[in-house]
Amino acid sequence: MQQEDKFIQATNLIADANHLLVFTGAGVSHESGIPVFRGKNGLWQKYRPEELATPDAFRKAPRVVWDWYRYRRALIRKANPNPAHIVIAELERIKSTFLLVTQNVDGLHRVAGNKKLVELHGNIFYTKCTACDNCIYEYEGENWSDLPYCECGALMRPAVVWFGEPLPEAALTQAFEFARTADVVLVVGTSGVVYPAAYVPLIVKQHGGKVIEVNIEPSAITPHADIFLQGKAGDVLTHIMKLLTRSK
Ligand code: NAD
Repeated sequence: MQQEDKFIQATNLIADANHLLVFTGAGVSHESGIPVFRGKNGLWQKYRPEELATPDAFRKAPRVVWDWYRYRRALIRKANPNPAHIVIAELERIKSTFLLVTQNVDGLHRVAGNKKLVELHGNIFYTKCTACDNCIYEYEGENWSDLPYCECGALMRPAVVWFGEPLPEAALTQAFEFARTADVVLVVGTSGVVYPAAYVPLIVKQHGGKVIEVNIEPSAITPHADIFLQGKAGDVLTHIMKLLTRSK
């Protein structure tokens, strides 16, 4: 199939969808200047995320892990939503039954305007206590220069899901329940190898829904995709939005 035919088919599926699910990964934020973990230009590879983003790493070297998170927070604070985030926010406005499930912790979908969203792996600007329920939002910048301690005396940590940790149950349930009813899932910029998040598009498929994938290169999701649109998320989604607007 020609690329333009695939675009038209994908646009028609999105236009006709009663329940639209959008599932995103680090690739959707790449054009905002935030490096991905895997794939081409996975700049954070030099920091070996699988070794730093773990409870064990934090126990052994909390300062190193916090330095890495503060570096990432600073990078993300400077970033703005790109055209892919903008189109996904627009999809929420035009589709009445919609859910965005993101694996990203950068919060850029919120900045772009998405409200019906599940942040499966948390949000990098939250800091939580390792002992009590204290959790604070620190978007404007941390007012601490050494390691952060809670009023209860315990060390605070980034409130994101680390490798080997369970996902927040409510978020996962909401994502899986919507996936069972979705007639289309638009998968954007994920390698599809981080579980259980990667089950989301597979559940849609199992329940008879269609899978549209956008990625610069094939991923673990591609064998399950009904339509694979190869290209940068910003370019591909902007083109789809143009076709959607035209087809109204
Ligand atoms: P990943 O790094 O494993 O994969 C990124 C995918 O995006 C790759 O398949 C790559 O080919 C694709 N990609 C890169 N640039 C793209 C572009 N311009 N347009 C379309 N696709 C593009 O990321 P993942 O699948 O999200 O899984 C890694 C985990 O790392 C996630 O759980 C997430 O929490 C975390 N993470 C988050 C951020 C963020 O919040 N921005 C960044 C890196 C990693």
